[in-house]
Amino acid sequence: MGPSWYWMPDVFEEYFTKFGADVHKELDLVRLDPSYKVWFDDAPWSVAADFESLKSQFEAIEPGAAAQLEAFMEEARVKYAIGMGQFVRKTAHSPIEFAQASTLYNATKLTLFKSFSDHVRRYFKHPKILQLMEFPVLFLGAKPEQTPALYSLMNYADTMLGTWYPMGGMHEIVRAMVRVAEQHGVAFEYGVEVASIEVKGNAVSGVRLKDGTEWAASTVVAGADYHHVEQHLLPPAYRRYDASYWEKRTMSPSSLLYYVGVNRRVPGLEHHNLFFDTPFGPHAETIYDSKTWPENPLFYVSAPSVTDPSVAPAGCENLFFLIPVAPGLNDEPGLRERYFDELVSRLEAHTDVDIRPHIVYQRSFAHEEFIADYSAFKGNAYGLANTLMQTAFLKPKMRSKLPGLFFTGQLTTPGPGVPPSLISGDVAANEADRYLKRTRKATRREPQSASIG
Ligand SMILES: Cc1cc2nc3c(=O)[nH]c(=O)nc-3n(C[C@H](O)[C@H](O)[C@H](O)COP(=O)(O)OP(=O)(O)OC[C@H]3O[C@@H](n4cnc5c(N)ncnc54)[C@H](O)[C@@H]3O)c2cc1C
Repeated sequence: MGPSWYWMPDVFEEYFTKFGADVHKELDLVRLDPSYKVWFDDAPWSVAADFESLKSQFEAIEPGAAAQLEAFMEEARVKYAIGMGQFVRKTAHSPIEFAQASTLYNATKLTLFKSFSDHVRRYFKHPKILQLMEFPVLFLGAKPEQTPALYSLMNYADTMLGTWYPMGGMHEIVRAMVRVAEQHGVAFEYGVEVASIEVKGNAVSGVRLKDGTEWAASTVVAGADYHHVEQHLLPPAYRRYDASYWEKRTMSPSSLLYYVGVNRRVPGLEHHNLFFDTPFGPHAETIYDSKTWPENPLFYVSAPSVTDPSVAPAGCENLFFLIPVAPGLNDEPGLRERYFDELVSRLEAHTDVDIRPHIVYQRSFAHEEFIADYSAFKGNAYGLANTLMQTAFLKPKMRSKLPGLFFTGQLTTPGPGVPPSLISGDVAANEADRYLKRTRKATRREPQSASIG
């Protein structure tokens, strides 16, 4: 229901290769060009996918910015290589994993202690370029001033590795994963809810479903919201964290979403559209500081029907609106209608297209739906913020206090986003495998592992 940006294609490629599959055969991937369109208050900017063209776009508004972009990306490339090569796949059970001399040496190149905001300003001055460069970290959960400069690796992913799209929609990724997993003998059960983690002899023994059915398992990998599993499904004696720990976590922004069907095309829109036509400062303040609903928020519109005719009837547009908002907010009567009205008005004004009379479907989704549908702590959309104090071994641990139970997903290492969550699943599965081998609990007749989510 959420993701629309296919970034870090190397992670998807590696994932499928691991199972003997080829991502390019499983998915019909197209690279988007322009990568996205930024709608500033004066004029829009279609961000070129081709690096040379992008450099020319930078140079046109800030002399010298082409060379600076090259230097910025070279620095970011090194971080991407180190971060993805050495850090992201660590289990992060303890700081000792990071204590090797080579790892420590490489860590110094990651600019962990410098802010992203300062880092970008060392290279560029033009406000539009600054906004463009700061956009990929907006969803990491903290202001660029509080986000480590390490995350310029996101700019590398965005600019150099490209923005891709699997024809048929993002759900095709899931369908491909299921196809490949089934070829390897994985059985899926849909529409069942785990109500508790079961314990026998001080180790995990399986899960109990909401309808009372018990599934025996020698190891369990929990992919549902970490807080929900630990605080609600696990007996208190095995919880590593308590309520006050969770209250002190900095969550990523949540989102107010609208799924919209329009029975006409909307010329001017690209596949990905960022509406940066209002200043982000006051909006960011409401997300990260005051934790209130924003006035005149910036927002994002995804229009996959621009690329893919299969996702909307002919002549129609499939739109998805997103406003990043603080986690833990309560809805107020009329609030969703008010924001929707504002978003549509701004979209109409920028594109000069009549949209309101053509809306044939509209559904909104926010905190209460994230809680009801996903048991998401405080209605979070993207897990924990990637602040320095919530990085690597400072995140909620992948290994539970209960032997045999492992956590995976966006609230543990390495963090939020589809590619990091794929990596998280891989690392957690290896841990579960190691556990099984160590304990030699597995028998042929007993199910060896189960995963939630
Ligand atoms: C609106 C939105 C937009 C996003 N955009 C992007 C993007 O463009 N690109 C990107 O890379 N990332 C994006 N993300 C982030 C990305 O989607 C997440 O980080 C990632 O999907 C998290 O994966 P996960 O496996 O941790 O959790 P999930 O994908 O949420 O999976 C957890 C699963 O557990 C299930 N579950 C929960 N409780 C139980 C239970 N008791 N029993 C059984 N099952 C249970 C849930 O139903 C769910 O299916 C977006 C997220 C949102 C919300």
